[in-house]
Parts: sequence; C-alpha cells; structure tokens
Amino acid sequence: MPTAILINPYIYDFAACDLFAKPLSLIKLADWLARRGYDVIFWDLLNPLDKEITSFMKSNPRIKIGKRQKYSRGTFHSEICMKPDVLKNVPRHFRRYGANREYLEKLLKNVSFKPDIVCICITMTYWYLSAGEIVELVRGYFADAAFILGGNYIRLCNDHARKMFPDCILYNEQDFDNLKNYIHLREPDMNMKRLRLYENLVYMPLQTSTGCFNKCPYCASSILYPEMRQFEIAEVMDDFRFYQENYGNLDIAFYDDVLLHDFNTHLKIILEEILKTGYNAMMHTPNGLQVNLIDDNVAEWLKRANFGYIRLSLESSVPYWQKESDSKVDNTHFIDAVKALHKAGYEKDDIGVYLLIGLPGQKAKDVTEAVSFVKENGATARFSEYSPVPGTPYFRYEAEAFPQIVDEPLFQNCSLMAYRNREFDYETLEDLKRLL
Ligand code: SF4
Repeated sequence: MPTAILINPYIYDFAACDLFAKPLSLIKLADWLARRGYDVIFWDLLNPLDKEITSFMKSNPRIKIGKRQKYSRGTFHSEICMKPDVLKNVPRHFRRYGANREYLEKLLKNVSFKPDIVCICITMTYWYLSAGEIVELVRGYFADAAFILGGNYIRLCNDHARKMFPDCILYNEQDFDNLKNYIHLREPDMNMKRLRLYENLVYMPLQTSTGCFNKCPYCASSILYPEMRQFEIAEVMDDFRFYQENYGNLDIAFYDDVLLHDFNTHLKIILEEILKTGYNAMMHTPNGLQVNLIDDNVAEWLKRANFGYIRLSLESSVPYWQKESDSKVDNTHFIDAVKALHKAGYEKDDIGVYLLIGLPGQKAKDVTEAVSFVKENGATARFSEYSPVPGTPYFRYEAEAFPQIVDEPLFQNCSLMAYRNREFDYETLEDLKRLL
C-alpha cells in the first residue's frame, strides 16, 4: 500500500491566534488520498489541543502554552525566536507558534515505513520559513519520498516558491484531480469511511461554498477560486454527520467567504437540517458576514441556530473606501443589518464589525470615523490589519511604495502593516486601538 505523510506546519509570525485555524484543504486531501489507496499519517503541528504536542512543549520552560478562550477560540503554544535578517528592524517579537523542530524529529523517529509522498500545506504567503525547515528535516529521514507542497503560498507566490523549494512538486491547483500527473492513484473507493484525523476537537470546520462573487481589490478570493461554488446540501450534511458522530455536539465554524449568499435556498436549508438532528451547540463565522445580505429573516435564523457572536464585514464607513470594496456594502445596509440583529436579540457586544486598517492611501481619520460610526449604530468595532496579497490590484499599488513585498513574502504579513505604511506607524496604530 502506498503511504503518505501530511503535515500542517508550525509557523513563524509576529502574532497568531487560533481563530478557527484548521487546515481544511489538508484534511480533505487526507480523505482523498485514503480513498485512492494511500495509508495516511496526518500531523497538524499547529494544533494546540494535541495532547502529545502539549505535553512535549510543557517540558520546555521557554514555551508559553496555549489557552482556550470564549467562543471556541484560543491561543497557540509559542516561543520567542530570532528574527530573520530581513525583519531585524521590526520592533516586535517574532515567535514560533505550534510544535517545534524537536517534536517533529520525535515523530519522524517513530515512523516505521518509508513514505512515498510527503504533503505540506503552506497557508499564508509569509509562513514559508517553517516549511523550509520541515522539508529539510523530513528529507533527512525520507530522501526518496516525493515532496508535494500546496496552499496559498504556492498558488500566490509561485516564483518565490520555485526558488525556495526547487526539489519539491509545487501543486498550485484548486482541486486534487491533477495529482494523478505526479503520483500513483487507485480508482477511488467512495464507500471508504472517512479518517478520524484529530483525537479531540472543540469545533467542527464546515464549508458550504468556495469563492466569492465580489471582487474587492485587496482580496485573493477570485484568484484562488475564479468561480464561486456552493456545495450540495447533502455534501455539507455528510461532513456535519461525520463530525457529530465522531466528536459529539461540537461548535461549528463555517469557513465560507460568503456564507449568506442565496440564504433561503442554501444556508437556511442547512441550518434546518442541522437543527433537526437535535444539535444544540454554537455556530461561528470566522470570516465576516456580508452586511447587505442580512435582513430580519436572516437575523432571526442566525439567532435561532445559535450563532453566538456575529462578525460583520463593513471594512469602512467612508463612501470612497466602500466603493473601493466593490460597493458590497453602504452605511444604510449596515444600519439596517444591525437593527435586524438587535431585533433578533443580539446586543452591541455580540456584534463585532471588521474595519480594514492600513489600506494604501487610507488616512487615520478614515478609521476614526468608521469606529465612531460603528459605535453610534450599536455594534463593536474590530480592526483587521491590511496585508498586500500577491496578484491583487492593491498589491501592485502598494509595491510602488514598498517594493520589498514583491520579492520577499515575509513583508506581506498583516502584522507589518504599521512598518510598511507611514500613515499608520506603530504609535498611531496604538492610538487607534485605544478607540475600540
Ligand atoms: S467580499 Fe470578502 S471574500 Fe469577497 S472579494 Fe471582498 S473581501 Fe474577498
């Protein structure tokens, strides 16, 4: 039987938290490979709930152990590390989040076979450093394995990845079908039971669609998913039942970009089906909901289905920036949506509103105005620091002022917004955070 090791790497970053951070593509790949004849080992090296990782990391006093927080969120295990040379002038601590090299080495020593393939997922473009470390380490044990790298870094920074990982297969496609060009696959056995990859979970990751019909000029959704696709209700319910049967009545985190699209014929039906099973935990939307799609009906359903904390994507209250955001929302939509949520029973503290901060050309006063607008209308403002995403119109624009982002993905990190953008230097940023 061919064998595969799938790895979600630990990461290096200035800040990171477990806001429903499960590697959905890698989870899907594990089942996809198993159905095609592979014996799969799955290592999520970022998972703060992994008991073995936690006990290993606890033995090192330099490591801060992750904690669980309200609404199924949490922090990762972390340790302050040396910054790479290019980031040495950034006045913030650089950390490793998740497990570490020593822990991975321990896992590798216990593998009793030689894997045919090793698949590594690199989610953010500025997280490639740990993947480099992991490829080198794993190759030392399994030199004959084919290394397949995927994830947003591979898809958005392909030129950089080719230089960084010359001996790896860089898989930059949305679905897995073309893996057949690189590895041997049997005919799929669709009756095969799904793999139980995690020992314990506090939420189940569900996705009901991929892509988005909007084209905000700072977002890569339409590059990664040229067409928006909603999954069949039966497909979503299969996922739900798998998690419910294997892990119990967990919270749900929806990973969609536009969860509320065609609400009455899509999400509403899914919620009805889920509630019929007797489900009574809490639902979450890590990505903000689209404000203009919320009316009384939607708000009532969100409440009935126990969406505990509502995240809304307003981005800005300034008409210019709303127009720049593909005119997906205006202030009237926002006021109406919040009224509908209040009517359904949500209070100010239950409604978090994402405001983008640090867009190229944006002024600090634009942000101050947006914070006041959100507060005056009965919701809570939250900042989402802008990061330049390769391939987007704003990336090209920001590259004119800060060309380093083109050749060095580490500079694309949202945590470096204040480092790249003089209008929002660290002091201004701290002042703005005090307004929240
Ligand atoms: S609405 Fe959200 S997901 Fe869609 S393009 Fe805009 S930022 Fe991206």
